[in-house]
Amino acid sequence: MLPKIALTIIIITIVVILFRKSGSLKKFQKSSGDDNAVEMKKDPVCGLYVEDTTSHKVKLDEEVYSFCSKKCRDEFIALKKK
Ligand SMILES: [Zn+2]
Repeated sequence: MLPKIALTIIIITIVVILFRKSGSLKKFQKSSGDDNAVEMKKDPVCGLYVEDTTSHKVKLDEEVYSFCSKKCRDEFIALKKK
């Protein structure tokens, strides 16, 4: 019969392996989700690339434009109104 300590070590090893597997899976899912989140859009005014999460956006002709700043957004709107 196995000593109790050996059995305890085996159980701990199994638990650690299972924990690591689920942990690495979660990490992978999180990192792939982050990749989708950082989509870059080109500022049509100054040509800079800005993150799609920017608050400086304007929807025009069913298309959403992203800007680096409020200044660029206002400039774009002014140009389109002409
Ligand atoms: Zn800009």
